Amino acid sequence: MERLTTKNYTYHELDFMEGGVADCFNKLAEYENLMEEYGLKDLTEIENAVQKQTPKQPEILRCNEDIRIGRGVWKAGTSVMKCGSCGEWIVPHWKYCSECGQRIGGSQ
Ligand SMILES: [Zn+2]
Repeated sequence: MERLTTKNYTYHELDFMEGGVADCFNKLAEYENLMEEYGLKDLTEIENAVQKQTPKQPEILRCNEDIRIGRGVWKAGTSVMKCGSCGEWIVPHWKYCSECGQRIGGSQ
């Protein structure tokens, strides 16, 4: 990602900026420094993290056989859920998928 701010600017450089421009410039410089510090080249990983935090409705199925999910066993014929993101079995009260970290949500 190409920087808009100089890496080690001095506060003197902000003297010519008016109003909120200097504040925004500072925030942008902090943001660009963090991106570099963590080796993030673009917003892809941040967008993925936002997607994981956005509740996703699970797939609800009736199991044909006994299934072990977490520490419990769901008997054949009961309703079970699969993560809407990775397809792993999930337990109804889980807030997040234990496999991929997707936040679970939606009407049930
Ligand atoms: Zn998942």
